[in-house]
Amino acid sequence: MIIRQGFKFRLDASDAQSARLRVLCGHARFVWNQALAKCNKAADTEGEYVPRYETMAKWVTAWKQEPETEWLKEAYTDNLQQKLKDLDTAWQRYFKKVDGSQRPRFKKKGKSRDSIRFVNFQKYCRIDNRRVKLPAGLGWARFRKSREIVGTTKNCTVGFEGGRWFISFQAEREVPEPVHASTSMIGVDMGVARFLTLSDGTFIEPVSAFKANQEKLARAQRALARKVKFSANWHKQKAKVNRLHTRIASLRRDTLHKASTQVSNNHAMIVIEDLKVGNMSRSARGDAENPGVNVKAKSGLNRSILDQGWHEFRRQLEYKQAFRGGEVLAVPAHYTSQTCPLCQHVSPDNRTSQARFQCVECGFRENADLVGAINIKARGHRVLACRETGLPDSVRQEPVRNREEVAPSAAPAASGIPHRR
Ligand SMILES: [Zn+2]
Repeated sequence: MIIRQGFKFRLDASDAQSARLRVLCGHARFVWNQALAKCNKAADTEGEYVPRYETMAKWVTAWKQEPETEWLKEAYTDNLQQKLKDLDTAWQRYFKKVDGSQRPRFKKKGKSRDSIRFVNFQKYCRIDNRRVKLPAGLGWARFRKSREIVGTTKNCTVGFEGGRWFISFQAEREVPEPVHASTSMIGVDMGVARFLTLSDGTFIEPVSAFKANQEKLARAQRALARKVKFSANWHKQKAKVNRLHTRIASLRRDTLHKASTQVSNNHAMIVIEDLKVGNMSRSARGDAENPGVNVKAKSGLNRSILDQGWHEFRRQLEYKQAFRGGEVLAVPAHYTSQTCPLCQHVSPDNRTSQARFQCVECGFRENADLVGAINIKARGHRVLACRETGLPDSVRQEPVRNREEVAPSAAPAASGIPHRR
């Protein structure tokens, strides 16, 4: 089995290297934006279709011949090709609705995270202890090697985040097919109040440092809005905002990694809900016929759901399980929060609040997140036993009010009338 792993470090680029990297990122960003504009045009006229990578690569060749864009000849071709491949992937993910992927967006200078990828690492690049040699006129650069890079480096990405350069080496290694040390199966419910609840009753709280930093960020953003745009103070404040963004992102990654490692270490089979976060965000807005109900409360909830990085968590679980020889099973999320684990009675009224579950049929009471986790595990058992794919089509087409749409008890939804999409 081949394991691919990324190793990310701070890159200490010299002034000249920083300048060169900015130019290379600019080239890549230009090509992304130009190709995206053409793709958007195609998507608008031809529906769910945009040109694939091979076609886009020909556009670049043509742009290099045109007088106003012939400066692209100065660009490092591999970087441009990789950007186009990324764009191609982004479109395909969007069309296939992978993890609620959004339509690709234009990259704005200084706003989007800039990056370039160097492929054929073994041929064009080299690592010598704490230095890396990069092509495209960059030469040797130091990086803060905080751990060993295991395996053969296949490519590397250099990016600018929060005012600093980073380098990430993508390495591959061959390992024997692993067998998970445990044989247990666990259901995992992901929530807002409790970040994770396991079907064995244990749970993980969201990190409080995360919230504190978000409040700091909100304050910093308000301060930024009061400054004269592009003034010296504005730039200073802008850098502060960017640093906070980076800090929050790394806090989030850290929490997710700790949680996914813990769960993956202990259980061979992890059952999770197959959530469509993208759909969930849209449903709050509603449409002309069906204006969104409780939009304000939900947008807050959705934001924090997205913040918790569920998709990232699933991604981490999947690769960690593959690494250990375990498995991740995603089961349909319908009614997992409304079903009584004791008598199987399904009703939105079973859910008395965001946190409490009480069955209207048999009176069973438990923490609502734990009920969710138990139901998820039970569904996992059924999927494995008889390949149940969820509920019958007739039921599945019914609008479902899942856990995330249950409003606090004071809100209109408490009347027991589900919010129809
Ligand atoms: Zn019951």
